[in-house]
Amino acid sequence: MKTKKMSWFCERTVPGKRYGKMKHCFLIEKLIFKGKSPYQKILIFDNSVYGKVFVLDDIVQLSESDEFIYHEMLTHPFLMLHPNPKKFLIIGGGDGGTLRECLKYNPDEIFMVDIDKKVIELAKQYLTFVNQGAFNDKRLRLFHEDGKNFMKRHKDYFDMVIIDGGDPIGPSVSLFAYKFYQDIFAALKEDGIASFQIGSFLDTPLIKSSFTNLKKVFPHVSMVRLDMPSYHCGDYCFMGASKKYDFDKFNPKDLEERFGQMKKESVFKYYSPEIHQASRVIPEIFKVK
Ligand code: SAM
Repeated sequence: MKTKKMSWFCERTVPGKRYGKMKHCFLIEKLIFKGKSPYQKILIFDNSVYGKVFVLDDIVQLSESDEFIYHEMLTHPFLMLHPNPKKFLIIGGGDGGTLRECLKYNPDEIFMVDIDKKVIELAKQYLTFVNQGAFNDKRLRLFHEDGKNFMKRHKDYFDMVIIDGGDPIGPSVSLFAYKFYQDIFAALKEDGIASFQIGSFLDTPLIKSSFTNLKKVFPHVSMVRLDMPSYHCGDYCFMGASKKYDFDKFNPKDLEERFGQMKKESVFKYYSPEIHQASRVIPEIFKVK
């Protein structure tokens, strides 16, 4: 009897020190979508360990088993610091997970700028466990262009900007540029806060350059440490930058109060005040001097 050919997705081209020197593979137990948009290769498949897995340009973006860690930690450790965020901007985030988390703050409006319309279309169809209907929210204003260009057109407007791009390859490269950080600073209100998807602590040069560039632009910059099991890369880093509020002086009582209020209406599967504090403990080896 002919044995069924097993098909595998192998991640092998993550930029940084691991590029071409490692691969980790996921059995494709059910292929859901495989194709290309004008910007990137797109793959979605089912795997019984991780659930649905979403891949762009051969790099795992998220899996059903752990996307909430990523999206809760890219938003709340930074957003909680703002006393009353009302105007949000998300660059990237086409799967809708970050949008879902921002709606927990009951904003007045959320701008979302993802370069790739195809990703949103596929997310609405196949990644509903991530966006959970968030794309239908009336406060959403959706744009399809390079976030780098969009940012230039806005001054002193947003309370919160979240950069939810991919790794520094392909269309996401521009989202790691110093000039882009300056444009974000200009687009934020005088007490605005920004958060950034950065990468693995394995990639010291990326962590160092991102932190150093943000420190040149913003008075307050903070890192959080998290683990994304489906990334297979050890500790992962997100960063926050603030024009006015100091992450290191965030009163734990205010955090408890704000979180307590939100918990009445929203579900948090990973983030909590304890996780907030714990994620800010950065081992000496990972600190940027
Ligand atoms: N939320 C994802 C996760 O959990 O890993 C993070 C990656 S998200 C899928 C990356 C998104 O950024 C993609 O939808 C991609 O189309 C978008 N993107 C990449 N470069 C961009 C740019 N320069 N401007 C706007 N969107 C961009």
